[in-house]
Amino acid sequence: MAVQEDQFKKVLSHAKEYGFVFQSSEIYDGLSAVYDYAQHGVELKKNIRDYWWKAMVQLHENIVGVDAAILMHPTTWKASGHVDAFNDPLIDNKDSKKRYRADVLVEDYCAKIEGKINKEVTKAAKRFGDSFDKDQFMATNPRVLGYQDKIKSILGRLAKSLENEDLADVKALIEELGIADPMTGSKNWTEVKQFNLMFGTQIGASAENSTQVYLRPETAQGIFVNFLNVQKTGRMKIPFGIAQTGKAFRNEIVARQFIFRMREFEQMEMQFFIKPGTQKEWYEHWKKTRLAWHLSLGMGEENYRFHDHEKLAHYADAAADIEFQFPFGFKELEGIHSRTDFDLSQHEQFSGKKLQYFDPQENKSYVPYVVETSIGLDRMFLAVFSNSLIEEQLENGSTRTVLKLPPVLAPYKVAILPLVKKDGLPEIAKEIVADLKWDFNTFYDEKDAVGKRYRRQDAIGTPFCVTVDHQTLEDQTVTLRHRDSMDQERIAISDLRQIIGNLVSMRMWLKKCES
Ligand code: ATP
Repeated sequence: MAVQEDQFKKVLSHAKEYGFVFQSSEIYDGLSAVYDYAQHGVELKKNIRDYWWKAMVQLHENIVGVDAAILMHPTTWKASGHVDAFNDPLIDNKDSKKRYRADVLVEDYCAKIEGKINKEVTKAAKRFGDSFDKDQFMATNPRVLGYQDKIKSILGRLAKSLENEDLADVKALIEELGIADPMTGSKNWTEVKQFNLMFGTQIGASAENSTQVYLRPETAQGIFVNFLNVQKTGRMKIPFGIAQTGKAFRNEIVARQFIFRMREFEQMEMQFFIKPGTQKEWYEHWKKTRLAWHLSLGMGEENYRFHDHEKLAHYADAAADIEFQFPFGFKELEGIHSRTDFDLSQHEQFSGKKLQYFDPQENKSYVPYVVETSIGLDRMFLAVFSNSLIEEQLENGSTRTVLKLPPVLAPYKVAILPLVKKDGLPEIAKEIVADLKWDFNTFYDEKDAVGKRYRRQDAIGTPFCVTVDHQTLEDQTVTLRHRDSMDQERIAISDLRQIIGNLVSMRMWLKKCES
């Protein structure tokens, strides 16, 4: 745990020190759970968004995009169920005055039991050596089985009481398990209450004429209300999808995990409209397809796992999360939800407009079913950033901090460095920049010794450094240094574009989704 916390602290300070993420309005002591992306962060975030958009929209001929407004007609949120049901159960500690999500307290308790299971596995793996069979051990070891049963029964009870709105039982569960305030250890809890997460505001000039509106808590509804417009104008045939990226707002109760849980964040969502009855097969299809997208970035298969929901949201008939191993453990990164025809039917009912599709093959109209994929861009940023931040021991005994971002996502693809600030080297370096900048984000740096400049690029994740030296004057070659291996090779200036292009092209990376 201490190692994990340590790593998380490093992530926070690196993100700030190297211009990736700043706290919002920092000069006024910040606004809780709201963050700004800085000069390098904005590039990384944009590249992640592009990587998603290309995979979802450009590579699927039956998926198109929209960019709907953040403010929507308030009835949207009545129809979607958010006014009545977009609540989290909150609980306050009477001594510390800290507020928590009751369900998260219980889930964290279970995560600790899971930690014990992992310990048993590590111990046994050591004891049995090569002959260790993890699956068999997990299925037969009495202690592990006991822990697993405990987790299952706790989460089962939590899901049931939340579903029945039995908040008194959620409190009873917290007390029975002896869960204490993680900050202070106090067990002096208030009752559990429901808390609506939507931010409301007013539209209109005068108090009498103003209307209550909401900042959207998810981008999905902007897709549903446009479903028929897009289907008709795009002459889309089922199955087809509509994708969108954009801001969403939630007045989160607990917001203490940096950009993992923010009050203003960005989602990348795709709603896939299908024939009723085919939802199981499309649900499995999108689970597989989305996992392949994640794995294409090469951040380690062992860092992902599926978590099937026990407690389904009011709109879903099946739901799973893709969880990622963040510095604070496995947590939800993306959700895949089979939403049935809930949303479109609700909008039909509340708007009085038909939202149906005429299926020429079936020769009838129906309200399509929907499978949704929904990922938080900021969470994806945190996943990539924390996974890439590495402190390496070098052979000469020194350490280097390197951000081993997948090159396709790196803010700068290449830094151009004249070895010295004279003898015409800066001029050649600038000529190279002037040529490469048409294809890649490039960085020019002539200050300090070249070793120091390499380290600066390592810290912001630039996959290539090109050094112009005196030999360049003679033979038009430069040194190309690779970030991860630190290997250096001599290549012709005229080959740079192609060599760098091959290693950072979206084409090359996205093709991995297919394998
Ligand atoms: P959680 O259980 O963590 O609150 P959720 O199940 O409410 O998340 P969804 O409503 O399914 O999340 O939203 C889809 C995705 O949006 C999530 O997988 C996550 O990546 C992202 N997301 C949701 N809430 C936030 C937030 N407050 N800050 C950043 N990203 C978020």
